[in-house]
Amino acid sequence: MFEMATKVHDERRQGEAFAPNIPDSKEYKRRFYIESYGCSMNFSDSEIVASILSDEGFGATRHLQEADLILVNTCSIREKAEQTVRKRLTEFRKLKHQKPSLLVGVLGCMAERLKSKFLEEEKLVDLVVGPDAYRSLPGLILGADDGQKGVNVLLSREETYADISPVRLNSNGITAYVSIMRGCNNMCSFCVVPFTRGRERSRDPESIIKECRDLFNAGYKEVTLLGQNVDSYYWTGALPSKEGKIDAQFLPPLTLLTGENNPQPLLMQDAGNNSDTLISEVSAWLSSPTGGDGTSGAKLGMGAITFASLLEMVALISPQLRIRFSTSHPKDITDDVLFTMAKYDNICKYIHLPLQSGSNRILQLMNRSYTREWYMAKVDRIREIMPGCGISADIIAGFCTETEEDHQDTLRVMEYSEYDLSYMFFYSERPGTLAQRRYEDDIPEEIKKRRLQQIVELQNKLSQQSNKEDVGKTFTVLIEGDSKKSDKHWMGRTSHNKVIVFPKDTHLLVPGSYVDIKVNDCTQATLLGEIA
Ligand code: SAM
Ligand code: SF4
Repeated sequence: MFEMATKVHDERRQGEAFAPNIPDSKEYKRRFYIESYGCSMNFSDSEIVASILSDEGFGATRHLQEADLILVNTCSIREKAEQTVRKRLTEFRKLKHQKPSLLVGVLGCMAERLKSKFLEEEKLVDLVVGPDAYRSLPGLILGADDGQKGVNVLLSREETYADISPVRLNSNGITAYVSIMRGCNNMCSFCVVPFTRGRERSRDPESIIKECRDLFNAGYKEVTLLGQNVDSYYWTGALPSKEGKIDAQFLPPLTLLTGENNPQPLLMQDAGNNSDTLISEVSAWLSSPTGGDGTSGAKLGMGAITFASLLEMVALISPQLRIRFSTSHPKDITDDVLFTMAKYDNICKYIHLPLQSGSNRILQLMNRSYTREWYMAKVDRIREIMPGCGISADIIAGFCTETEEDHQDTLRVMEYSEYDLSYMFFYSERPGTLAQRRYEDDIPEEIKKRRLQQIVELQNKLSQQSNKEDVGKTFTVLIEGDSKKSDKHWMGRTSHNKVIVFPKDTHLLVPGSYVDIKVNDCTQATLLGEIA
């Protein structure tokens, strides 16, 4: 099977070895080493794993040789991602020979997909743990110490790790991920995620706000709210019944909600635009056994806490805290979300809106539940409500039965949408997916390769064009650290998610400072500027 990605989610971080940047004075019994692959969610999960292990007396190390436990948090999204992990595992074999007590564990999507088969296929592996089973790691490690190989790949309808404070690994101290939901119910036909990460479930908003607030108090200036489909975030305080219905008595109060009968967001004016009032109202409602004072949302004709209301609650923590989110599904992103973004300066004006294909026939085969026309109307709506909003996409070249005309349709939607950035992939057939069961992976490698190349070339042109349009403009930039190429330059990001590099002209700035930068030049990937 042939596969190539020109740009996967944060390519620079694939296989990153994790450990906290701040020196840790605690005494640990043993050390663990963890590498992460795949999407931001996996990187975020590794921080939860670190927290669980730290409570058990394990300290993180960046050095393989120091480790008593090696963990690989894996990705199954494309075949190439799995091959990379397999290759990496063979490299651990020598270490295990040198230190027989060393344990090796495989976490994440590949563990979930292959289950105990992994232990048969990769003899050096001691632990196989799926994304919903990290709480069982300490028990499994104890068993493995006694020579018992351990597998836990149970998927959960409830697990959100809401009560676990992640240990921030490899953090710049300025930006952090906060997971708001897990799993996915969408069943896009090409995608393995619903099988490896289970049913969609949203995390308690109170714990999300608390985590964001704690990060802000610790000096962080930007949080990215994470989920496979953040726009379907939905919290009622009660778990849906088997039929997916929610008991009306658990619905929350008026001020917290976007109502079914009220298509405009309530935007929390009733809470006095004050995060504390709002949060205490959420807390009061959440802690009461029937969900508040009896004034149930059902009686008021209201819905639950939606992504728009959650965004607003996080925005109200402080105007100095920037908020981003990923990923939006075009079918689910609502006007409520767009209006909430427009209302708050600290919600970054950037939306990742995966396209996958610009052909209606292919979109239908992919089970994406939108058409090219719907998608383009969404792009128009974003630009209407937030002129200048950055938009990026995911695109798959060479899905089953894709014709030249389908491919041209994709290029046309790209031209129309004028993406600032795209993550572009060859279709890679994944075992067990709907596409693998229903359709033949019939596009020859060289055609997939050529089409992907055309997509990449067009995106390069669009990125260059988009950056050129920013020359002469001034943006508020959050400084993240030194530029990669020179410690005489700062690197930061604009609200619309463009990387900007500028000289360190003054000593007053530090990572985490906001500064207005005028763009005076650009490359295809970066804006170059100076302090305005
Ligand atoms: N939930 C997100 C969404 O729907 O946009 C993205 C999830 S997935 C981790 C990231 C991207 O990987 C997808 O948007 C898709 O473009 C790509 N992808 C998923 N399955 C793939 C496959 N079988 N072959 C190639 N690319 C794939
Ligand atoms: Fe996969 Fe589709 Fe869910 Fe994204 S929305 S994780 S592509 S099934």
